[in-house]
Amino acid sequence: MHELRIATDLVDMIEGYAAEAGLGAVHRVNVSFGQFIQIVPDLFETAFREAAAGTVAAGAEVDIEIIAAEMRCPGCGSQYIPSEDLKGCSVCGSSEIDIVHGKELFIKSIEGE
Ligand SMILES: [Zn+2]
Repeated sequence: MHELRIATDLVDMIEGYAAEAGLGAVHRVNVSFGQFIQIVPDLFETAFREAAAGTVAAGAEVDIEIIAAEMRCPGCGSQYIPSEDLKGCSVCGSSEIDIVHGKELFIKSIEGE
């Protein structure tokens, strides 16, 4: 399961951050996912609870922010929000596209004591 693998990686990172900050328990975790990561929030929360069991993040609440996809054409420099049927740049037609936003996967912050 996609979500469980990501949740396990994030719990590893949270344990590192908590240790650095001297936190004995993490109560809340704020995470950001790009649209292309295709996280299902409900599945992620379930996976996170499973991955966090027995760690400092056990029982922590998860707040998920989804970052909308945004593309940029390296050819003409136009920046746009991709639509389902768009295969290339809407301005010059180039099929070479850079992803500006949408592949994010990070922890914004953690709260604990
Ligand atoms: Zn273009």
